[in-house]
Amino acid sequence: MEAQNDWKKLGLRVGLEIHQQLKTSKKLFCNCPVTLVEGGMEDVFERSLRPTRSELGEVDIAAYFEWQKGRIYEYHAPREASCLVEADEEPPHMLNREAVEIALGIGMAMNSNPVDEIHVMRKIVIDGSNTTGFQRTALVALGGEINVNGKKIGIQTICVEEDAARKGEDRDRVSSYILDRLGIPLIEISTAPDIQSPEEVSEVASWIGTLLRLTGKVRRGIGTIRQDLNISIAGGEKVEIKGVQELDLLPKAVALEAMRQKRLLELREELRRRGIDKEDIIFTPVDVTNILKSSKSKVVEKNLSKPGGKALAILLKKFKGMLGYELQPNRRFGTELADYARFYGDVKGLFHGDELPGYGITEDEVRKVYDALGGDPEKDNFILIVDEEEKALKSLKAVVERIRAAFDGVPRETRAVLPDGTSKFMRPQPGAARMYPETDIPPIPVTKEILEKAKALKPPTPEEKRKYYEEHLGLSSNLAEQLVGSEQQETFERLYERLHGSVDATTIASLLLVHMISIKREGFSIEKIGEEKLFRVLELFSEGKIAKEAIPELIKLLAQRPEADPLELAQKAGLLTMSEEEVRAIVKRIIRENERIIKERGERAKSLLMGAAMKELRGKAQGSLVSRLIDEELSNYLKKQV
Ligand SMILES: [Zn+2]
Repeated sequence: MEAQNDWKKLGLRVGLEIHQQLKTSKKLFCNCPVTLVEGGMEDVFERSLRPTRSELGEVDIAAYFEWQKGRIYEYHAPREASCLVEADEEPPHMLNREAVEIALGIGMAMNSNPVDEIHVMRKIVIDGSNTTGFQRTALVALGGEINVNGKKIGIQTICVEEDAARKGEDRDRVSSYILDRLGIPLIEISTAPDIQSPEEVSEVASWIGTLLRLTGKVRRGIGTIRQDLNISIAGGEKVEIKGVQELDLLPKAVALEAMRQKRLLELREELRRRGIDKEDIIFTPVDVTNILKSSKSKVVEKNLSKPGGKALAILLKKFKGMLGYELQPNRRFGTELADYARFYGDVKGLFHGDELPGYGITEDEVRKVYDALGGDPEKDNFILIVDEEEKALKSLKAVVERIRAAFDGVPRETRAVLPDGTSKFMRPQPGAARMYPETDIPPIPVTKEILEKAKALKPPTPEEKRKYYEEHLGLSSNLAEQLVGSEQQETFERLYERLHGSVDATTIASLLLVHMISIKREGFSIEKIGEEKLFRVLELFSEGKIAKEAIPELIKLLAQRPEADPLELAQKAGLLTMSEEEVRAIVKRIIRENERIIKERGERAKSLLMGAAMKELRGKAQGSLVSRLIDEELSNYLKKQV
């Protein structure tokens, strides 16, 4: 990885788009609950989608090519979490006010300006993930700024939108989706392209993620938050990388896309150096079926046996080595071309001269293909596609267009992130034709009443919350830092509130963030211990029934028997504190045993007595009680001596 300075030199600019599911009582446009279901009753139906024309009369190109693949979409509609709205058989209801208020509240924490009136728009999405063929989205606030570790990051827009359906299992031409997720409200936050390094992208994403969690109004867990990235370097283009679900993958995806753009610019230089011109790249497919008809290659054999199966090739003059040119680890320029072939022509892939002979295609066959194309195997290159003729032609055409684009540098694309942080071509970037107004839903004026409700929901910034924990609850800066935005924060808040200050914040936070973790490390499965049991343990402590030192011991017992009553467990294990009388008796005995020292030191003997008492009473009595009883008994004793 390169240093901060190198990224600046590269002119790296990154904008982050965060999509987070909101925890509302119902979905964005109907009354279904915001929940995913496993099993239960469901209805199944099929649809095929077609692209709608926008107001401008254009058909969105990305939508068109998705549609052209002729896929059938199969929808599973769980009765518990979907209705006729998700099935697109009933018009959407009014926009969910609760979602709008939460989003506006979050906007306020980012200094974003609420719009006067909220208009729901339709964004064409034709991969089948919406039954309607579009996603509904509404802008709620514009502009703004956040301060992340001393750096200002601009906010461009804040929207609420409906989540898409959940992917099911695909079979052949059938894409399957589950409708429980469709319509769950999302907040979409887009930052300005102010982020300038992979490290910064992590910082900003984690800052915004923490802010969102501080509302207490967002869903938690895998898949509830997704990030998209807009990345460019100097001389490159704004490329959209979609679908990053893990925070750890963000910096990697950014670094690898910056590298890809840099390599594409180098590739352009190499094309120029070789004196190749864009106009030299022409679509002149040559039929080489005869050369390959008795090939031992399994793929070639299989595809040629399809009805209308053909082997078509095009020559690329002076391109030797260029298709094997690595853009990202294990992704070559040839891989990019294959992605285009797959998207536009629906073929499985392509062969190129830099990887042949191989895949069962022999040296002799390669030489014959060069001959048929009139090319020089030492200098030239070729693309070979074996499939149904129509598909092969469409694919080759797209490949030629992509190669021509290499003369301009980096094409504007939407790409999908892969598990290792590299990415693959997903579709061209949608144009303005993609958005049009939703006529089924009236606009919502942002009234004073809405703004007031939003203000009440406005979360503190992570810094403000940290400060609050330190200054008002007395947490150490370390504990406060750990707690803000952590998985345990909401549990902490609820426990603290329910205990009404009878247990100090540090004890609760230490239990959740320190003791629970170390108990887990010792091999206890703490996951089954419910919040109610934790509450009961802390309550026993607040009632003086167990000592603070006994809490971890009791948690370990609970880990083994999560259903048991904490009080009973403490009783059986001898963890209950002694009564005041019992403790007093021990204190008196210790005083008797130390009479000589007390006579010498008077009240200053207290710390020694305390040490001796705690040695016996640790885990069986509260330190504060022992201290008080020593004070009382010591002063009684000293009075008698006078
Ligand atoms: Zn519904």
